[in-house]
Amino acid sequence: GKADVTCQMVVLGSGPGGYSAAFRAADLGMETVLIERWPVLGGVCLNVGCIPSKALLHTTAVMEEAQALSAHGIKFAAPKIDLQVLREHKDKVVSKLTTGLGGMAKARKVTVVTGSGRFLDPYHIEVALSDGSGTKIVKFEKAIIAAGSEAVKLPFLPEDPRIVDSTGALELRKIPKKMLVIGGGIIGLEMATVYSALGARLECVEMLDGLMLGADRDLVKVWEKKNAHRFDAIMLETKTVSAAAKKDGIHVTFEGKNAPKDPQVYDMVLVAVGRSPNGKRIDADKAGISVDERGFIAANKQMQTNVAHIYAIGDIAGGPMLAHKAVHEGHVAAESAAGKPSYFDARQIPAVAYTDPEIAWAGLTEAEAKQKGIKFTKAVFPWAASGRAIANGRDEGFTKLMFDVDDHRIIGGGIVGTHAGDLISEVALAVEMGADAVDIAKTIHPHPTLSESIGMAAEVFEGTCTDLP
Ligand code: FAD
Repeated sequence: GKADVTCQMVVLGSGPGGYSAAFRAADLGMETVLIERWPVLGGVCLNVGCIPSKALLHTTAVMEEAQALSAHGIKFAAPKIDLQVLREHKDKVVSKLTTGLGGMAKARKVTVVTGSGRFLDPYHIEVALSDGSGTKIVKFEKAIIAAGSEAVKLPFLPEDPRIVDSTGALELRKIPKKMLVIGGGIIGLEMATVYSALGARLECVEMLDGLMLGADRDLVKVWEKKNAHRFDAIMLETKTVSAAAKKDGIHVTFEGKNAPKDPQVYDMVLVAVGRSPNGKRIDADKAGISVDERGFIAANKQMQTNVAHIYAIGDIAGGPMLAHKAVHEGHVAAESAAGKPSYFDARQIPAVAYTDPEIAWAGLTEAEAKQKGIKFTKAVFPWAASGRAIANGRDEGFTKLMFDVDDHRIIGGGIVGTHAGDLISEVALAVEMGADAVDIAKTIHPHPTLSESIGMAAEVFEGTCTDLP
């Protein structure tokens, strides 16, 4: 058929999965086109996800740490918050990264087409150009679908600027007095942490019987204790059933175990009830690609869909909706498409809640290990015994490792405490390499660090830990 652009590889969507795939394909010598409907590269993660949320979380964590120094004899005046400057700071962080990506695409001669793409058939994508100048047809030999996901909407909620999803919350238009977070998952609670630090009182409603349900309960408990002061209510096993936007606020009605009888009034409502993949929005059926009911596109270990020359990666391909998973899948898809032996076979995909304290885990959770019937021993090192955690004034955390009782290999681990997200990489590496308790315990960790707690937990398992109080 007719084509405006012809290429060996087209990548649809430029999030962490898409740009990683496009860059790897180009590095491997493929003529690559990257289609993105937004004006800059980086997808959800860079523009309205991982990065802006962490820019804000860093600022608010430092602010709260500074305030906590009053217990050490250092008193600051109450913080004066200039939302406009904070917003600009966050936007600068994002644009530094997206500009960098644009430069990297150019350096690799990846052609970026800015517009919304949909399949016409197994070898053509039509792009409705974002500048309104019409359409372009991209003819390709191979394609990688990396079109990501969008926030799930609750249909009964009215359209009102005071009701936002994570993208709206990141815009930081104003700080509400009273904020309701619908959905007690990581994204909702990260944003709640930011707003709470900036002065909002929080309430949270969650349909299921716990917050951050992917994580082990012992880890979450530590976070709950440290964060109880932020919340006026945490309504578990409760649903939001309707809402009315009125002058004095959003009036929300609840149902379920912990539902208040009367509607409650909030200045802001954050909806964070999950994300849905964009599989149904790209006419994948015209290329013969199977899309499931929810919009996911299944892929094999090479990341191939049912149509062998078309791959799917990232949030749209199922599995944990995480940027680092999307990146690795992107590399696999590009390498496979370029004819290299490559497959996705991760033993572990780490997960992090960048709350305060952070919660991180890698490999199996305790709940998963139990479910699988694996016989394991849990070794815990409480940070109350960590010199560094005590020196930091943040000894509420702990590090736990789980070892197979037969071969003593690590099957997983979890950490709750400051910087847990950075610390978990060592557990990830240990799981990926099949390290056993002696490997970890005999690895000399620097003193005094939080990372020592990982070596110490392995020593607890070995029965050689003498440093516990
Ligand atoms: P996405 O990043 O979703 O990118 C898809 C891209 O495709 C978008 O740019 C979109 O515009 C484009 N697109 C879609 N359809 C079309 C089309 N038809 N034509 C052209 N372009 C199209 N993950 C982490 O690992 N760590 C975190 O700390 C973290 N924090 C998060 C915080 C928030 C608030 C949110 C919302 C998410 C967070 N995530 C985090 C999840 C992470 O953002 C996603 O897992 C990741 O972005 C998925 O990458 P992806 O490449 O699959 O797609």
